[in-house]
Amino acid sequence: MIPALVESLSTEQCAIYDAMQVCADQRNVNVYLVGGAVRDWLMGHPAGDLDFTVEADGIVFARALSDVHGGEVVAHERFRTATWTFNGLHTDITTARSESYPRPAALPVVAPAPIGVDLMRRDFTINAMAVRLRDGALLDPFDGQADLRRKVIRALHARSFIDDPTRILRAARYSARFGFEIEPETRVWIDAGLPWLKDLSGERVKYDIEHIFAIPKAPDALILLRAWSVFAALGIAVPEPATLLARFDAIRSHLSTWDDARIVPYGHRIAAGWGALIYNLGQMSASRWLELIPYTSEVNEAIVSLGVLSTLAASLFDGRSSHQSALLRPFSAMALLFMWLYDPAPAKRTAAFNEWHTWRGLRPLTTGDDLRARGVRPGPIYGKVLAMLRDAWLDGDVTTDDEESALLTRLLSQ
Ligand code: ATP
Ligand code: MG
Repeated sequence: MIPALVESLSTEQCAIYDAMQVCADQRNVNVYLVGGAVRDWLMGHPAGDLDFTVEADGIVFARALSDVHGGEVVAHERFRTATWTFNGLHTDITTARSESYPRPAALPVVAPAPIGVDLMRRDFTINAMAVRLRDGALLDPFDGQADLRRKVIRALHARSFIDDPTRILRAARYSARFGFEIEPETRVWIDAGLPWLKDLSGERVKYDIEHIFAIPKAPDALILLRAWSVFAALGIAVPEPATLLARFDAIRSHLSTWDDARIVPYGHRIAAGWGALIYNLGQMSASRWLELIPYTSEVNEAIVSLGVLSTLAASLFDGRSSHQSALLRPFSAMALLFMWLYDPAPAKRTAAFNEWHTWRGLRPLTTGDDLRARGVRPGPIYGKVLAMLRDAWLDGDVTTDDEESALLTRLLSQ
């Protein structure tokens, strides 16, 4: 391995690189480390997930690796690629291929091809570099190294964003993430891709927008997309730049409080990103996102509730806690998270937090069994009495067990 490359790889990644190299030699095929890991190495950054391209069948190669080393292989037949999960790392292994686009924004038709052709199908010069494992040679046909030095994102050809408009979203992500400028000609090519954004599947738009949410500079990327009229091309309004910055700041500074919350399964940073784009923008934009993106049912429900939550009058939240809690009780934890992070009214934000954190978990000490023991005949009265006891705790009318017991006696005598 190139000595300098070792420094940007973890021990586990080095083990994977070595395993790839041994397997390549045994099978006598050319294998290349491609894309992000090469770019990250040349930038002096630690590598993310490794992507390899083989001048042979990627799925067969991945299975040969797992036969020797173990781990799981998930094959994607359409492009003959595989993800090998080994040692806790996900490694993508692709078949070197050419791509042609039957129509704009459609998935490409692919055919096996040498690495030189494979690099031509890639998004940007800085991602179109490869290291050949056999001899450590660096392949850089579009001079990505110069663009790394100049700090520019440059697409490979004029039709790039028409073929695949998701590259517009990727351009904004890399530009924000690395602080790189978009090269002027590429900026013109982006405009040519805008009309085709509408033809992308919602799944693909979701994938790339959620990758943006995952980077620390997410608002910068979204602000760029807004400036390029990407959201307008999708027919969706998004918040002003200052609002986007403030909302992602809120995610950064407050989300750890919510860390152990009930929304963790989806990835709360990602969910919060959708909330930041949609909160307070009205029914039209929310509906448009809901039509376009195949959300999980949890996120879907939270977005649907935003219409109501964001328009609730702030004045409803300066009265008794029990009244506030009753208003918020129907909403999911995720919907409350959005209200807490993004509502401009402090009283509403506090109420959302209290409802999520305290109010909805509060139970009186008295149970149905206690009511039965006191001789109350079972019926709707049970729920009513227990709710009144809980509300008394919420409003601070009851603060000790004895006070609850006394209130219960009073209620039952009425
Ligand atoms: P990251 O650090 O974000 O993972 P990456 O460069 O590894 O960066 P991936 O999404 O893992 O990005 O893709 C791996 C490589 O595949 C890219 O470097 C690029 O060469 C190519 N690629 C990915 N998506 C596209 C696309 N839509 N069009 C063209 N090439 C792409
Ligand atoms: Mg990658």
